[in-house]
Amino acid sequence: MNSPLLRAAATLATVAAVALVAGAGFGAATGWAVLALGALALLAYHLIKLAALIRWLRQPRAGALPDARGVWDEAFALLHRFERTAAKEAARLSRALTRWRQAGEALPDGVVILDAQNRIEWCNEGAGRHFGLNLGADLGRPVINLVRQPGFVAYVEAEDYTHTIQLRSEHGGGLTLSVQVIPYGESQKLLLSRDVTRFEKVETTRRDFVANVSHELRTPLTVLAGFLETVRELKLDPQRTRDYMNLMAEQARRMQRIVDDLLALSALESSPEPSLEARVNVQGLLARVMADTEALSAGRHRVTLDAFEGFDIAGAESEIASAFGNLASNAVRYTPEGGTVNLVWRASREGAEFTVEDTGVGIEPHHIARLTERFYRVDRGRSRETGGTGLGLAIVKHALMRHQATLEIQSEPGKGSRFIARFPARRMLPAATRTQDAATASPAAPGFS
Ligand code: ADP
Repeated sequence: MNSPLLRAAATLATVAAVALVAGAGFGAATGWAVLALGALALLAYHLIKLAALIRWLRQPRAGALPDARGVWDEAFALLHRFERTAAKEAARLSRALTRWRQAGEALPDGVVILDAQNRIEWCNEGAGRHFGLNLGADLGRPVINLVRQPGFVAYVEAEDYTHTIQLRSEHGGGLTLSVQVIPYGESQKLLLSRDVTRFEKVETTRRDFVANVSHELRTPLTVLAGFLETVRELKLDPQRTRDYMNLMAEQARRMQRIVDDLLALSALESSPEPSLEARVNVQGLLARVMADTEALSAGRHRVTLDAFEGFDIAGAESEIASAFGNLASNAVRYTPEGGTVNLVWRASREGAEFTVEDTGVGIEPHHIARLTERFYRVDRGRSRETGGTGLGLAIVKHALMRHQATLEIQSEPGKGSRFIARFPARRMLPAATRTQDAATASPAAPGFS
């Protein structure tokens, strides 16, 4: 008999049958008494089980359902199954909630959940860093009582969330934050904050750069336009005309140099990282740099080259040539006549280094850190007179960086300067015998890794 109700009915029928038998054997009174006792016993059993169930329902502890038989066994078994399913579902929801919380915490951005009255319901660590919020202390508090900057308060209160606003965070060392409120659900809101300090810096650099380029090009362009106007308007004798033409050509060359250097910089920024396989034939390159340096000096300086021939480096030859060439030409340009320029290529403790030493004008210490900035010059006049663009050291720094090399600048005003380009050991290659095809030389020969 499977149905619990049928089993309950069978129990009642059994009691009635026993009562009938007792009535038949011992008289009707006995029969009624047995029936009443049986019914009472059954009622008491069901009341006890009902009380146990009510007790459990008041404080439902997992796995603590009362034992029972018959109809109650069935009911308790169903409850037990329901309880197990509910416990599993609760555990699943709890795990999902934990995962969402962890994901929220892991976000680098700040996230705050606000209710309809802009009170904090939840926030992550990012919001702590950006606004100094702390979930423990600030739960339920209006966000505008905690982030009091007028721009933020006006934004939250205006309830026009179609745009983002920028704030300077009073916490976390003056970060610049991009903040947006996104309404969702019935009346809740997400307050998102993103650290845009770096983007802002890049944007400022870009703006300054464009302003600098325009300024650098405008000066020679103005001069050029002035001369052109003069030559066109005035009747000049051939000698004067030639003089003006020479001056115009000089301005055009200046613009050309600036544009060439800008293109070189942009190529350095956009081309892929120099390969570890390609060989830079350092000896050949140094010979060319030496020849160019002597040509630029035109006998006004003593120029020396001291190069160790045992190794080359791996990388882009044109970039290394540009870096070494710029350092050497600066040494000539900033060293008065009669001075010395030494070029040295040698092994160092970390790898290899190229040093350019001069006995020139030197540099005051406070300029040194800024020399590799684009268009930074200590002496504008001298830079211009000697054909400088203010981009040479920026190109050097970029080209070296792309080879994991660094630039060190040592200088003493009035005595001279030393520029050292240091290459890591992993960029060093044993020198290929000059007859050997450079591309076939092993980049990993012993002693150079
Ligand atoms: P520039 O085209 O003006 O030479 P660079 O970027 O090559 O631009 O150099 C930046 C500035 O660094 C120069 O204007 C100059 O003031 C200084 N400088 C560079 N090399 C030397 C050097 N060897 N001796 C003294 N000053 C130097």
